[in-house]
Amino acid sequence: MTEATWRNWGRTVESTPTESVFPTTTAEIARIVQRAADSGTSLKTVGAGHSFSACAATEGIQLSLDNLAGVKAVTPVYGPDGEPAGADVTLWAGTRLRDAGPLLWELGLAQENLGDIDEQSIAGSISTGTHGTGAGFGSIHTTVTALQIVTGTGEILDCDAQQNPELFAAARVSLGALGVLSCVTVRCVPAFALESTERPSTLDEVTGDLEGFLRDGDHVEFFWFPHTDLIEVKQNTRIPASSELRPKSAFALKRGELLTNNAFGMLCRTVARRPGLTKHANAISGRLMGKSTYSDRSYKVFSSTRNVRFREIEYGVPIADAAEVLAELRSFFDAAEFPTPFPIEVRAVRADDAPLSSAHGRDSVYFSVHQYVGMDAEPIFDHVESVFRAAGGRPHWGKMHSLTVDELSRLYPRYDDFVAVRDSVDPERVFRNEYTEKVLPA
Ligand SMILES: Cc1cc2nc3c(=O)[nH]c(=O)nc-3n(C[C@H](O)[C@H](O)[C@H](O)COP(=O)(O)OP(=O)(O)OC[C@H]3O[C@@H](n4cnc5c(N)ncnc54)[C@H](O)[C@@H]3O)c2cc1C
Repeated sequence: MTEATWRNWGRTVESTPTESVFPTTTAEIARIVQRAADSGTSLKTVGAGHSFSACAATEGIQLSLDNLAGVKAVTPVYGPDGEPAGADVTLWAGTRLRDAGPLLWELGLAQENLGDIDEQSIAGSISTGTHGTGAGFGSIHTTVTALQIVTGTGEILDCDAQQNPELFAAARVSLGALGVLSCVTVRCVPAFALESTERPSTLDEVTGDLEGFLRDGDHVEFFWFPHTDLIEVKQNTRIPASSELRPKSAFALKRGELLTNNAFGMLCRTVARRPGLTKHANAISGRLMGKSTYSDRSYKVFSSTRNVRFREIEYGVPIADAAEVLAELRSFFDAAEFPTPFPIEVRAVRADDAPLSSAHGRDSVYFSVHQYVGMDAEPIFDHVESVFRAAGGRPHWGKMHSLTVDELSRLYPRYDDFVAVRDSVDPERVFRNEYTEKVLPA
């Protein structure tokens, strides 16, 4: 047990837990939760600390499942004609996605879709609704078929669509507010590879029919260099795992690393000192983005390395309204009054039914706006948030936003169902923190 300052990856949150604990069994988690409940202390589970919001911060007990990781069980799944269709893989909740990828590949399996980094823990990733891109694919939590959770009363509950179904539905995206997830069962698909094409283009290609553009392919997204009309399009196409793979060469990897991390970091430091240069810097970044095609194991293609630290706001808006949102953002960033050197990422995600999923009930387009840690984020985030809110946008729970209970309860049709489940499994609010106090009722 230690008492030390904790900071998240984005350096947007700092807290001083009274103690940090690293249980290695579910029974031990239950004992720790019981102790917290008995003493009236709050407890928060932290994953990889990769949320920009304060959802994982605590001034009480910080519980990490870094020592509870790996594959617990594998149950094969068959299609309608008895053909192998993947497996339900139960992962200990602290498993990092970067470890799950190779472990699953060895089993001939893969996660259906992933976000663009793989540092997160499986429990942390689903708890905020982490998503990748692909209008035909849901966020990571939509692939979860069962969970084990330690509730605020120290009970260990297994839940799935049949057993404790309300808890299961709510716990898939639950901000650590319903309990400590100890196991997460993920419906994995047979291992597959991705062929990735990255190419430079301009906003003109996407603005005519943004929805059509994002729906045209398995996993389509683009990075827009704000204050310019330059974009980098990334299209990942699913191909069989047995395909002859053409991974990025060592040279291409090195070049990518230099461009997206080293040179980009230098550029960010420069524009932080001279913000007036941002527009020109972004034009250079946009032009440096070349065309490349490569193929590799799915988990390797989905994720990238992010070494230049940033802050981020991300909202999901209904897919039909995304073009209008993009136009609004364009007029704001064209004025270049508040510069950012970071590209804006635009992705699409299929609707789902988790009560607190930001894609609840609607196919969504997500806009991620970033700011370099050394530059002022507030005026940009304030403005873009007003654009997202006007479009009925819902914030990513793991990213920065200013919404509170009143507005959130109107944005989520099943918000009250979530609150009712919380009342039943954590009546004493053991899992409270400043963030839950902001986004959930007392
Ligand atoms: C560089 C970077 C890139 C990112 N890329 C993407 C992306 O492509 N797509 C996207 O959607 N998001 C992205 N994110 C956001 C990130 O995926 C989410 O914030 C995610 O929740 C972080 O996971 P984590 O393991 O770090 O969890 P943490 O941030 O540590 O915790 C997140 C929440 O999960 C809860 N939690 C963690 N473990 C448990 C558990 N065992 N039981 C119960 N609750 C638990 C915590 O209490 C907290 O509320 C990115 C973030 C960064 C920093």
